[in-house]
Amino acid sequence: VRLEVVNTVAELRRAVSRARQGGRTIGLVPTMGALHAGHASLIRAARQETGCVVVSIFVNPTQFGPSEDFTRYPRTWDDDLGVCVSEGVDVVFAPGAEKVYPPGFVTQVEVTRLQDVLEGASRPGHFRGVATVVAKLFNMVQPDIAYFGQKDAQQALIIRQMVRDLNWSIELRICPTVRELDGLALSSRNRYLSPRERQHATCLFRALQRAEAMVASGERDAARVRRAMVEIIEKTPDAALDYAELVDHETLEPVTIVWGEVLAALAVRFGNTRLIDNSVLQG
Ligand code: AMP
Repeated sequence: VRLEVVNTVAELRRAVSRARQGGRTIGLVPTMGALHAGHASLIRAARQETGCVVVSIFVNPTQFGPSEDFTRYPRTWDDDLGVCVSEGVDVVFAPGAEKVYPPGFVTQVEVTRLQDVLEGASRPGHFRGVATVVAKLFNMVQPDIAYFGQKDAQQALIIRQMVRDLNWSIELRICPTVRELDGLALSSRNRYLSPRERQHATCLFRALQRAEAMVASGERDAARVRRAMVEIIEKTPDAALDYAELVDHETLEPVTIVWGEVLAALAVRFGNTRLIDNSVLQG
């Protein structure tokens, strides 16, 4: 097995510079572990176009709010390594929190405006934590290409903006959302769902499909599309709507008319478990 597991930035830099000296390009797939087929699809995309694939596994404490699931976030180290071996990953970077945020750490990256809506409105400070840790990973790994999932559409937009604003010459690839057969987007948090909640959790995908169907048949009134999505969530047992919005797919500003590409995004709670999903509507 040629998989190398490193826990410190110094070891990481050595592994990456060896690959570079061997003429290989570097692909980075940042994750919080509990790897599933969605993560695997990012790894495969990275393998296809880069010579050295680095997967970071770090449950980043700063992107969780005080009442969120940081402590109970799934940690499945052995299974994660198995996925990385079978997907042909070259380097797994799994630093401890004290390595990432040593005492006295004070610098934060904020991507204003984009960070404040949708997920950011429900989870204050979340995207400051995300942007900061991704900026650090970009500087530690210095990848040629970094891979993210469309599942977290707002995160992808924020990172794209950050790369542009801070002049990184890193290419980004945003990979399509991988779903279960019944449409539920794969997520590390799906394992929190009871069997009953798991069944009802298809309401996110059903709401997005309804929105797509309405737009495909000519509906252009964003409020009506949104209302239809809300109704699907509201009539699902156990489901509590956090938000359902139709927004500009780049600025994330609310739209009133579905014209061009519009992002339909929603967040729904099942007990303590919060799920998100989205779809780009073609108006
Ligand atoms: P996470 O470990 O949840 O932080 O996710 C790590 C990366 O995997 C992020 O770029 C996510 O957008 C991406 N990802 C998570 N779930 C999926 C999925 N179902 N399909 C595609 N990408 C995903």
